[in-house]
Amino acid sequence: MTTFVRYVKTQAMAKTVLVSGGAGYIGSHVTVELISAGYEVVVADNMSNCDMTCFEGVKKITGRNDIPFYQIDCCDYAAVTRLFDENRIDAVIHFAAFKAVGESVAEPIMYYRNNLVSFLNILEAAKTHGGCNVLFSSSATVYGEAEVLPVTEQTPRLPATSPYGNTKQMCEDILRDVVLATATSEGPVKGIALRYFNPIGAHPSALIGELPRGVPNNLVPFITQTAIGKRECLSIFGNDYDTEDGTCLRDYIDIVDLAKAHVAAVSRMVDGRMKEGYEIFNVGTGRPVSVYELVTAFEKVNGLKLNYKFAPRRPGDVVAIWADTRLANDELGWKAERSVEDTLASAWAWERHLAGK
Ligand code: UDP
Repeated sequence: MTTFVRYVKTQAMAKTVLVSGGAGYIGSHVTVELISAGYEVVVADNMSNCDMTCFEGVKKITGRNDIPFYQIDCCDYAAVTRLFDENRIDAVIHFAAFKAVGESVAEPIMYYRNNLVSFLNILEAAKTHGGCNVLFSSSATVYGEAEVLPVTEQTPRLPATSPYGNTKQMCEDILRDVVLATATSEGPVKGIALRYFNPIGAHPSALIGELPRGVPNNLVPFITQTAIGKRECLSIFGNDYDTEDGTCLRDYIDIVDLAKAHVAAVSRMVDGRMKEGYEIFNVGTGRPVSVYELVTAFEKVNGLKLNYKFAPRRPGDVVAIWADTRLANDELGWKAERSVEDTLASAWAWERHLAGK
């Protein structure tokens, strides 16, 4: 017979945050920052896209061996409910989703089912357990090829160009609707969507970082894997764009800075400082950096030469996107701090750590 314990919290107890997808790249950095800010964290992950490397790293960095870990799939509603029954959850940060654009085009059913059902289950459990604060990890991909730069949170979203991008837009809308529908109910849900620009880098300890499976799609893991010798040559996709050096412009945000934005957003929710039931914030640096600039900065800060070549444009890439970060700066009291050089040094330290060098 299973008995469920309902935890009754007193005021003095630390708030508990459920991090779904907490063993992954962003989730592990967020878990570290939440714990160092005094939160209790419960991690849920189905381990479909990671191994225990980062979760073990989180335990080492925080000195906490007792972080509750549920190896569950958030698409399994019974498992999600059990987790909420066993823990008094004050806020959820939802990362548990598939994230490869190309794969989503090939496998749309898998992407829609996974990314939507897991989020719906989290929301339903939040609602039926007396309400909760929910932070959704969204993406700058919702802006598409914006006409005016930098983009603000008011910049219109453009139709998504992949099922992955579409799930980000749909989950934002689902969260907004659930917040509205539950506002006066016994299970009110409040929500924040954070729209990330390009998260890069690793924790300064080099104990956690990005661990892509197979050939990396993203620029920085491809750079570090080329530098370590796992890949022969980096292709810079397109040098004939209408930018100063012809390569695309992005807003590369340090992973630890990004993680701190989550702590600021969670505090805003649990401390009752939200101005609306549903809010959106851009999380970037506000500075555009070209692919070529990033590559040369990587070479310079790490004192090495990277084998790269210019290659044709990658289908689906936008020319340029960067964030207007004023809302996050003013409302969350958060600002990106780490320089791109320090971030690139941390990415290289992590790659060497993985290689045992
Ligand atoms: N990029 C590149 N070579 C690679 C991977 C990426 O030149 O091997 C470029 C890509 O075309 C884009 C930028 O790097 O201009 C950032 O791409 P990434 O996939 O990291 O993030 P995205 O902005 O597409 O989400």
